[in-house]
Amino acid sequence: MELITEPYWWQDGAELPPVCHDVPAKADMVVVGAGFTGLGAALAAAEKGAEVVVFDAGQPGQGASTRNGGMIGAPHRPEFVQELKTYGRDLAVRIVREGAEGYAHTRALHEASGVFQHTGRVQMAFTRAHFEAMAERVRLIHELAPQETRLLNREELQDHIRSDLYFGGLYYPDHGAVQPRLAHDGLMKRARDAGVTICAECAVTAMKPEGDGFRLTTEAGEIRARRLVWATNGYTGLQSRWLARRIFRVPSFIIATEELPEGVIDRLAPGRRMMVESRARHSYFRPSPDGKRIIFGGRAALVSIDEREAARRLQRTMAEIWPEAAEWKLSHSWQGWLGFTFARNPYVGSHEGVHFAYGYSGNGVALSPWLGRKAALRAMGDPEGTTAFAETRLESRPYHIGGTPWFMALASPWWRFVVDARETARARRDREMRR
Ligand SMILES: Cc1cc2nc3c(=O)[nH]c(=O)nc-3n(C[C@H](O)[C@H](O)[C@H](O)COP(=O)(O)OP(=O)(O)OC[C@H]3O[C@@H](n4cnc5c(N)ncnc54)[C@H](O)[C@@H]3O)c2cc1C
Repeated sequence: MELITEPYWWQDGAELPPVCHDVPAKADMVVVGAGFTGLGAALAAAEKGAEVVVFDAGQPGQGASTRNGGMIGAPHRPEFVQELKTYGRDLAVRIVREGAEGYAHTRALHEASGVFQHTGRVQMAFTRAHFEAMAERVRLIHELAPQETRLLNREELQDHIRSDLYFGGLYYPDHGAVQPRLAHDGLMKRARDAGVTICAECAVTAMKPEGDGFRLTTEAGEIRARRLVWATNGYTGLQSRWLARRIFRVPSFIIATEELPEGVIDRLAPGRRMMVESRARHSYFRPSPDGKRIIFGGRAALVSIDEREAARRLQRTMAEIWPEAAEWKLSHSWQGWLGFTFARNPYVGSHEGVHFAYGYSGNGVALSPWLGRKAALRAMGDPEGTTAFAETRLESRPYHIGGTPWFMALASPWWRFVVDARETARARRDREMRR
């Protein structure tokens, strides 16, 4: 079978909206980008009575929001320890707490559309040091911002995933999964039912302040907006150079296997959890919602590469975890852009009246509708727009103009042949000592 280079998720879902030819003359709020952030913003503003128009350069959702792994949960990133160092205890704890609140909000939206699966998530330690860091993280989380997490030793981990590769793991029983395309359809329907107009395949090409709002040029005409929310994350272009300079994009690659023989997934991944590794390759994988395939993602490269080459690299990693995976046939291989801030935290803010939320740094399924909502409420001057993510750091780097930073092309071979090779050697030594 020919490898399909678009997301596995796209084979299901509602009919795509027609291409927009007719742009309304004005709106209370324009939202640029119809991914999870843009829809979260539009929904919040419409529920407060605003007339909202959302534009997307492509089909709504076909940025990261319907390309992702569909793993959803409250903050689980190793950065919590880093956040404590960077932001101090008060803000770090507020970030974790708001993450949990954001997850509850988004989960309720997906439960209402019937697309949320309660699966739990395990994070697997690739080296002994990673396992020690996990133990410290869980200690700090329990002390500072209690959240249901359980440290698993090597034997306990086998109840969730059968592999010799890891040194233990962390279990998040409360986490879950969505089929991203269906989750996006659910949000889009909700926004439309609240009165939001969505203009598909209609990029906003320019904006300028006018009176007490903005005049926007789009591919299908001009529109005047009283308020403006920019929700383009990893797909941010140069319409606002200020915004573009403060975010950079990194590709994430995913493959789907063909349907596996019955019993294979129950044997190799008996928990049917969402599974995430601690190594720099950042592999994340899960059974498909029907439990018949493995969807396997990761950092096959730091720059965009051909999907066939990415599929080969991801399959090699998958076979390190489960040797029999080397023989599995693949049906799909695709990629999408993650949006990173240089501090690696999401950020909500405004610049010259343009409100925005972006920089989920690979973990945006739970937070993006929530922070989109915050951005819209802040634009409307609503006190409910208060968020800890307006206090995180937002910075740029010399000569970064937007998109893929100039240093990423240089970093890519270094990352592959030095960082990854070193970590792999370390893990091998750790495993030999264990025998
Ligand atoms: C392969 C992959 C796997 C991932 N897996 C996970 C996961 O399992 N769990 C998790 O939590 N997160 C995951 N993420 C991250 C998550 O998908 C994102 O953080 C989230 O979807 C961001 O949503 P968004 O709406 O901000 O951006 P996007 O969904 O990227 O939307 C941005 C939109 O802006 C539009 N746009 C850009 N410029 C313009 C313009 N000028 N005019 C109009 N429209 C414009 C684009 O067309 C695009 O549709 C993954 C991401 C990728 C790419």
